Amino acid sequence: MTLIPQSICALCKQERDLKLSHISPAFAIRWLKQSSATEYVRNPLNPNLPFQDAKKIRLLCGDCEQLFSNVEKIFAEKIFIPYHEQGIRTFRYDTWLQRFAISLVWRAIAKKHGGGFEDRPTLATNVKAAADCWAAFLLGRSKDPGPYDHHLIFWDPTTMAMTGETSGLPDHLMWYVLRAIDATTIMSDKTDVLYGYSKLPQMFFFSGINPKRPDGLQGTIIKKKERSGSIKSLGTSILSNSFRQGCENIERL
Ligand SMILES: [Zn+2]
Repeated sequence: MTLIPQSICALCKQERDLKLSHISPAFAIRWLKQSSATEYVRNPLNPNLPFQDAKKIRLLCGDCEQLFSNVEKIFAEKIFIPYHEQGIRTFRYDTWLQRFAISLVWRAIAKKHGGGFEDRPTLATNVKAAADCWAAFLLGRSKDPGPYDHHLIFWDPTTMAMTGETSGLPDHLMWYVLRAIDATTIMSDKTDVLYGYSKLPQMFFFSGINPKRPDGLQGTIIKKKERSGSIKSLGTSILSNSFRQGCENIERL
């Protein structure tokens, strides 16, 4: 008999059997494998190793993982698959899209157990406040998702040109845009600006943490109060810094 480690679920804080699961949504991992000639999710700089976010960690109990699975399924069926398999670029959505964005940014924080800010007390406070707020929302203990803005940006490099600061972008940028999956926080070295950042193939989620409402993004916000809305495929001028940081993360593996 195999012993399953018992520990504390990062979301509900109960002592439960924790599931071994991906940080990034399972449907994205499946899609990468199915659309890959090699069947594996590879790092282009080290093709003998699977990509970092394909690895699994024990973070959630079965009940909490099911909460995530429910909203992932809706996003996969209504946006991810139509985008990649049918070329659809405009989508209608409901409150599930905000819930999905929150599930992504919460995981980006939770995978480090809220750590990484030991020498930045202001950021640590803001990250904990956001994570606690989002956990209560995801668990259904609160109906308030908090004062945070979440953005979704699509970028199809075959039809959209990148504008803005593009010098110094790495050679494997195109691979990163098309194939990489990522979930992390992006912070400034010089200021207390911090965003949640999750990347799926050709899709980029930004969440405000500090500030709670990111500047410089237009037409990409996921609406909170309306029961539905449409979100269009948009080019953007501000992604290059995130691309650069994401590519550097891959290089550091
Ligand atoms: Zn749980």
